[in-house]
Amino acid sequence: MSLIEITDVRKSFGPNEVLKGINLDVEPGEVIAIIGRSGSGKSTLLRCINGLETISQGSITVAGAQLIDDEVHLKALRLKVGMIFQQFNLFPHLTVGGNVMLSQMVVRKTPKAEAETMAHKMLERVGLEQKFDAYPDELSGGQQQRVAIARALAMQPIALLCDEITSALDPELVAEVLAVVRELAAEGMTLLMVTHEMRFARDVCSRVVFMHHGRVHEIGPPDEVFANPQTPELKQFLGVH
Ligand code: ADP
Ligand code: MG
Repeated sequence: MSLIEITDVRKSFGPNEVLKGINLDVEPGEVIAIIGRSGSGKSTLLRCINGLETISQGSITVAGAQLIDDEVHLKALRLKVGMIFQQFNLFPHLTVGGNVMLSQMVVRKTPKAEAETMAHKMLERVGLEQKFDAYPDELSGGQQQRVAIARALAMQPIALLCDEITSALDPELVAEVLAVVRELAAEGMTLLMVTHEMRFARDVCSRVVFMHHGRVHEIGPPDEVFANPQTPELKQFLGVH
């Protein structure tokens, strides 16, 4: 059994079908890069896996549990799958530590002392233990995104979904965030990443998914997908002629 099983998933917004039958099985510890043009359905796919969007057809199972569209199941699912966005969405009035503690206490009902211990541990993991008492606006964008990663990790997810998490960062801050992701990958975290960082995808990912018009247009190990694209659409996307 795969960790995440996506079977014939379709998703429409009104008359607009943006996912047109997605099939993808993700094994534990896999690191998958999702690439493709803007509007191809990458974010919608991640949002469906995390239960932020309901699917129109098909099925998604996470660790053997089918994603069923009711509040109880969705809540359980969001506990299992973490998601990190382009925008860090930290609470400005809370300290870094407070930000990492909050969802543990609210969503997981973790006691405060325990949440605090976990927050210290996860901030250490992303190299920001010394910023526990700082406020988000005292941090660089790269540091804020690392706090967002720590916050997601504190929920002890079985997989992490990353949606263009370095796209809002100044170029010199991208590397520090990717270094944290690279470490998580090395530790065996299952990762699905929508990314424009092709070199990172090539170095770190086990498979690359190229989405085009709501479909998985090509999929394979990075060596194959980048070095030997099969379709004109992927060739054009990669700028290969
Ligand atoms: P990508 O992340 O690859 O850029 P998205 O998944 O964000 O693509 O969007 C895919 C398509 O779905 C786009 O045409 C977009 O306009 C549409 N879409 C996404 N979210 C919504 C929504 N909440 N309501 C209506 N249309 C949406
Ligand atoms: Mg997107």
